[in-house]
Amino acid sequence: MKRDTRLIALGRAPVRAQGPVNVPVHRASTILSEHLDGYVHRFDGDNRYDNVTYGATGTQNSRALAEAVAAVEGGYRTVVTGSGLSAVTMAISAVVGAGDHVLVPDSVYGPTRRFCVETLSRYGVDTTFYHPAVGAGVAESIRANTRLVYTEAPGSLTFEMQDIPAIAKAARERGALVAMDNTWATPIYFRPLEHGVDISVQAGTKYLAGHSDLVIGMITTATDALFKAIADQAHAFGDVASPDDCFLALRGMRSLSVRLERQSASAMKVARWLDARPEVRRVLHPALESDPGHALWKRDFDGASSLFGLAMHTTDEAAVARMVNGLELFRIGSSWGGYESLVAYNRMPIPRTVIPWTETPFLLRIHVGLEDPDDLIADLEAGLARLGA
Ligand SMILES: *Cc1c(COP(=O)(O)O)cnc(C)c1O
Repeated sequence: MKRDTRLIALGRAPVRAQGPVNVPVHRASTILSEHLDGYVHRFDGDNRYDNVTYGATGTQNSRALAEAVAAVEGGYRTVVTGSGLSAVTMAISAVVGAGDHVLVPDSVYGPTRRFCVETLSRYGVDTTFYHPAVGAGVAESIRANTRLVYTEAPGSLTFEMQDIPAIAKAARERGALVAMDNTWATPIYFRPLEHGVDISVQAGTKYLAGHSDLVIGMITTATDALFKAIADQAHAFGDVASPDDCFLALRGMRSLSVRLERQSASAMKVARWLDARPEVRRVLHPALESDPGHALWKRDFDGASSLFGLAMHTTDEAAVARMVNGLELFRIGSSWGGYESLVAYNRMPIPRTVIPWTETPFLLRIHVGLEDPDDLIADLEAGLARLGA
């Protein structure tokens, strides 16, 4: 079955069952057992992972969503979590313990960095941040106690690409696991497990759910052992996604491929237009030929999503505020992946130890939604005109 067919066919009732098209919302804490015997043995063996036994360990809605995500990721099984960040923290914490060491790219999502520095450290786990462009050279930073090499491409806010296959190979040869935050590309444009990664993490909040109205996370693994370790960790910490959010995320996922196709093309049009403007210093978008990560992106990814960075020539915050405040279609907000265009603003530098950002005092981040790209360009053109006003 091809990918787009899987997006439609999976996580649904058996083909000939009578009933609604979508799995209804199963709101549940208590799950009743028919017989005492079933109740007593509800956690035995794989029952704890397969059966629906209690709302806090998943419902029919999280199971349906997990089935669809695992298939599209090309993975073994998926754990659904309460947020993208908890998918990150459950994936990491499930595989490390006191005395272990993790390697994390310096370009990692800010809250992931904070989790490593402030939380993992209290549990005796040591983190080293590495240059995202290190590739196979990551081997030199792998110690005897390095349990996990974490990756994210492109990087949050600054969009550095990583050589995922080379990093995965180096880690594997030294007995370390590899995890990747693949939120930007989604499994439509990059499937980490096909490139040697053991654990693929997705903030479903973004493109997968796609409508800016929920937070949810997914962790997909290549093996049964990793799936169980991560599911156990999520249960131990009481991490759970609500049935309503699982329902909405699965509904969003049905149109993920077509939304991305349109948003990706529109984002390229907007990015190329911006790249040619005299007010723009640099567009940070790996699908642009001028981007330092372009060759890696082209080699490994099937496409680019619609989120990119924008470095301006002006250092005048007030001028940029005039530009942004007057935009009509690009609304100001964090998160991304919904149907609507957004602009975010970040004062630089942000916390980085290996690759401090020294280029500009601030960075804009553009998310292109499903609007007509010509209207978006007109909105930006009027915005750029306000820079000088
Ligand atoms: C947003 C985001 C997350 C966290 O997702 P939430 O659902 O907001 O917790 C994790 N990683 C990346 C790369 C993100 O952009």
